[in-house]
Amino acid sequence: MDYRLPATVVPKRYDIRLEPDLLAATFAGEAVITVEVETTVTEIVCNAAELAIQSAALTRDGSVPIHGSITLDAASERARFVFPAAIAPGEWKLTLRFTGTLNDRLHGFYRSTYKDAAGTFHTIAATQFEATDARRGFPCWDEPAFKAVFGVTLVVAEHLSAVSNCAILREESLGDGRRAVHFADTIRMSTYLVAFVVGELEATEAVMVGATPLRVWCVPGKKHLARFALESGAFSLDFFERYYGMPYPGDKVDLLAIPDFAAGAMENLGAITFRENALLVNEAAASHTELERIADVIAHELAHMWFGDLVTMAWWNGIWLNEAFATFMELMAVDAWKPEWKRWTTFGVSRAAAMQVDGLEATRSIEYEVRDPHDCRAMFDLLTYEKGASVLRMLEQHLGADAFREGVRLYLERHRYANAETIDLWKALGDAAHQPIPGVMDGWIFKPGYPLVTVEPDDAGLKLSQRRFRYVGGDADSGQRWRIPIVLRAAVKRGYVERRLLLDGDETTVALPTKADWIVVNSGGHGFYRVRYAPALLKKLAGAVAKIAPIERFNLLSDSFALVQAGLGSAVDHLDLTGRFTEETDRNVWTMLVASLAYINRVIDDEHRSGLAALVRHRLAEKVTLLSWEVQEGETELDRQLRGDLLRAIGTLGDDEEVQARAREVYARYREDEGSVDANVLPAVIAILSAAGGEAEYTEFRDRFKSARTPQEEQRYLYALAGFRSADLLGRTLGMTLNGEIRSQDAPYVIRSLLTSVYGRGLAWEFIKQNWQVMARQYPESAYTRMYEGVVALVGADWERDVRAFFADNKIDLGGKTLAQYLEQLRVAVAFQERESEALAAHLSRQRPR
Ligand SMILES: [Zn+2]
Repeated sequence: MDYRLPATVVPKRYDIRLEPDLLAATFAGEAVITVEVETTVTEIVCNAAELAIQSAALTRDGSVPIHGSITLDAASERARFVFPAAIAPGEWKLTLRFTGTLNDRLHGFYRSTYKDAAGTFHTIAATQFEATDARRGFPCWDEPAFKAVFGVTLVVAEHLSAVSNCAILREESLGDGRRAVHFADTIRMSTYLVAFVVGELEATEAVMVGATPLRVWCVPGKKHLARFALESGAFSLDFFERYYGMPYPGDKVDLLAIPDFAAGAMENLGAITFRENALLVNEAAASHTELERIADVIAHELAHMWFGDLVTMAWWNGIWLNEAFATFMELMAVDAWKPEWKRWTTFGVSRAAAMQVDGLEATRSIEYEVRDPHDCRAMFDLLTYEKGASVLRMLEQHLGADAFREGVRLYLERHRYANAETIDLWKALGDAAHQPIPGVMDGWIFKPGYPLVTVEPDDAGLKLSQRRFRYVGGDADSGQRWRIPIVLRAAVKRGYVERRLLLDGDETTVALPTKADWIVVNSGGHGFYRVRYAPALLKKLAGAVAKIAPIERFNLLSDSFALVQAGLGSAVDHLDLTGRFTEETDRNVWTMLVASLAYINRVIDDEHRSGLAALVRHRLAEKVTLLSWEVQEGETELDRQLRGDLLRAIGTLGDDEEVQARAREVYARYREDEGSVDANVLPAVIAILSAAGGEAEYTEFRDRFKSARTPQEEQRYLYALAGFRSADLLGRTLGMTLNGEIRSQDAPYVIRSLLTSVYGRGLAWEFIKQNWQVMARQYPESAYTRMYEGVVALVGADWERDVRAFFADNKIDLGGKTLAQYLEQLRVAVAFQERESEALAAHLSRQRPR
């Protein structure tokens, strides 16, 4: 099958008029598409899906219309118009009349509903076109390289707002209770970036950023939650205009919060759509994590206005560059806005998450050939966003920040309003840096996996060698090699020596002046590789954790645990290493430490859970006591978030009864006086009370979920419903995922959360087996796919067999290598269990309650 549309007829301009009927959940439309016929044809082929096309007519210079016959092919999502006469080359106008349905699947042109304060339901019509769903909104050449200008008109009821990519040119009343809203022409852009939003919405006053008005839109009554988004959006927009050295390419920026939204956000030029919790927030009542997420997402989408919207990938294989670059720029902008958030250090957590997938046999290279555009749905993953951003950061550090920025500017100048490939970026960066972009990038972009660098003492100093890191068969060498920019630092008598080198063969030796006290490889932590130290070196480094940087401590723990998962280290040794971190001050290091303990909790038997809880308390108690429950003077925002994180961990995984009792008191106080609890502590208190709570807490949280005043509050109480331990209560939560009480945008993630809980996983798995067909119909596709990620926590040989049989019997395909990755992660965990459970059992049974 040929997946590309023929290029014999090319669209130049679309004049689209759409009349959505929100109550009937339908729409009618007309598209007048100016096309360039390249060679004489008798038929025109474009994309259309779930549309009925009533007529197709071609005209030229006001000639008599030539009517074409219409065939729709549902499988290929194409419309074919055959004309009775040959169509000569040149410019023609193709006029199409069509109708469609506002669907409930959160893709294409869809409807989103919400309940107002009085309990009345309202409907919004919104779009989500990436990757290939613009064809559900109007017939079009739905491939990123077919860029065109879009002139949009929306016909809506008088009381409704209408938003599209550009500013409103004029509005006219139609005299039947409706009005036509005409929008200015867009720049030349791809179909997947077109957007329409219609409903009872309200907007903030515009903030001017240079020449661009920036507004936030939301359902009525939520405008007071937009301040933070305006502030962070204004900063990012200005930051990007300066960084890119080029004005914003549109005429306004609207940030729209949509009650039902499948992804986190979508970079439609000038009409960026978001999940409510990724845009709206009450700053005073939000935790650091919640605020950081919003700042990240807004910066990410705004970065796309240039990188993605102005210059676009030629085909879907280039999605990685779009997303990796936007992620990289998001970090850059947020780091500039809030340096105290230390965004490049906290990115370590995301880098490690990408390494977790990329260490699998079932990983893929960042860029790979995409033939069927449907395959690109599997590209919106950690490898694209997080590994991609990591290797761009590695390149930026290698070239220098100024040369990198100059290269990016050159790339945007050369390709604006057009399409580009990965090689075009390398070329621009190389021209700006006056050096060819070394073959150093190809190993990271076009090959799967990443290296494990082994460090051993050598007569001259150190021996470094590389091979591919793998969780399965980790002791075998695949022969694959990378060109690895390595930075290492050694502590010697009078300070430090630093060495920078490119390891591009099997091994190399590094001379050191004198014997080092300790050595850290991947100094600075930007490298996308893991390090395995010889035992003597590891012992010295473990004794010096207080002297190395937070990101280096993070990597030490992350690599240590990965080596255990790969069968190259022992779990008990890792637990001993965590004992070195009881005074740790950095939040990311704690995140890694707690994550490794939570993983072990999923591997061990129920009878050893109390032993692990005692170990968790031992590791955390000192720091928890030091931080206390109250905000202290001179604390940073990260310190306050750390307090919340550690309280949550010790009160749930550590089952600390004292902390649980205190959480009850704190929550009781919160009900009397909301200002009495720090915003970073409250989410922890809620999580602790669900882990330790029963019927009363469940009812309370469920009520609060339903009457939430902010999107963050709604999320906290929703996920708390998955944090209980009683099967009866968790069963009720599962029931809510299908009966509409939990939105379909959230339900799959709640189920995933239950799957990763040792108390909920068995129930959730049985529930999925019974209801997966209904879920496949009801849930948005991307979220439905991610729900299954939770199976990695079904650690047990019987579960593993059952999971494999389920996917095989039901022929479930999650796109690309997604399912293979989930199954391999489960295999890694079960193998871990088989190898380690005996030693862990002995170790944990020796843990004494505090
Ligand atoms: Zn993106």
